[in-house]
Amino acid sequence: MDKIEHIGIAVRDLKKSNALYAALLGVEPYKEEEVASEFVKTSFFRSGPNKIELLEATSDQSAIARFLEKKGEGIHHIAFAVEDIRAEMERLKEQGFRLLNEEPKRGADNKWVCFVHPKSAGGVLVELCQEIPEHEG
Ligand code: ZN
Repeated sequence: MDKIEHIGIAVRDLKKSNALYAALLGVEPYKEEEVASEFVKTSFFRSGPNKIELLEATSDQSAIARFLEKKGEGIHHIAFAVEDIRAEMERLKEQGFRLLNEEPKRGADNKWVCFVHPKSAGGVLVELCQEIPEHEG
């Protein structure tokens, strides 16, 4: 894996949290995006070379809604940038990690994503993400 691509934070109210994180980081979010298939609304902030993703549930079916119910607001996942998501998924499977999706899914911010089950990764929800090349977009 190349680097931490972003840190995902679950929030109850994206608008309020956008204001909070804008005050904290000293910048406005550079993008807001709804991912209908995942029942989430997201916003992204830059902090130097790093990115923060805020996630609000748009439905009770959302994994974010279940997370908030169990744990409340806070860090939800750590995302790592990868060059070849399928190769990385294969490698992790061989290492005994449990993947939450068998095929890369289209995530926010123009990425192919795959999640690793926190039970197989020391309690941390890990996201792999690969930039979607323009010709695939
Ligand atoms: Zn993410």
